[in-house]
Amino acid sequence: MIGNSSVGGFQTLEARWKMASVKKTERREVYIGKLEYGADLLEEITAICREKNIRLGRVQAIGAVKQARLSYYDQAKKEYQLYELDRHLEITNLTGNISLKDGEPMVHAHVTFANGGGRAYGGHLASGTIVFACECVIEVFDGPELVRGHDQTTGLSLWEI
Ligand code: ZN
Repeated sequence: MIGNSSVGGFQTLEARWKMASVKKTERREVYIGKLEYGADLLEEITAICREKNIRLGRVQAIGAVKQARLSYYDQAKKEYQLYELDRHLEITNLTGNISLKDGEPMVHAHVTFANGGGRAYGGHLASGTIVFACECVIEVFDGPELVRGHDQTTGLSLWEI
């Protein structure tokens, strides 16, 4: 049920929360390839998007890195805390999206890494993560542009839809 519904005198969750904002898109094309040894993982994916003029899409990757740099968003302080993992790690999963910020393609990706013992680390991918090997798939979507702007509630740069 949607809207100002109530059950037993209490408002339902749907009534108290704003509805999710979604847009319809279509998949236009898919790029698949590898990133070079020594490349910066986030910067390289962003460079591909700029070169191919990919303004809306999603990215997925697996591989390994020589070192990682991640961040964690502190919701109370409304700021990112950066941390480094100065070790060799597997990229067990990279999932991200591509949209626009300040008129340029921006890649927002989260990553899970694993060490030799199978222990996992994860977070928001930051510049400074160095590729050992990486196989990458980028899906390009047709549809309305999604533009990031400052969100007062969270302090994050979110889609203005
Ligand atoms: Zn993030």
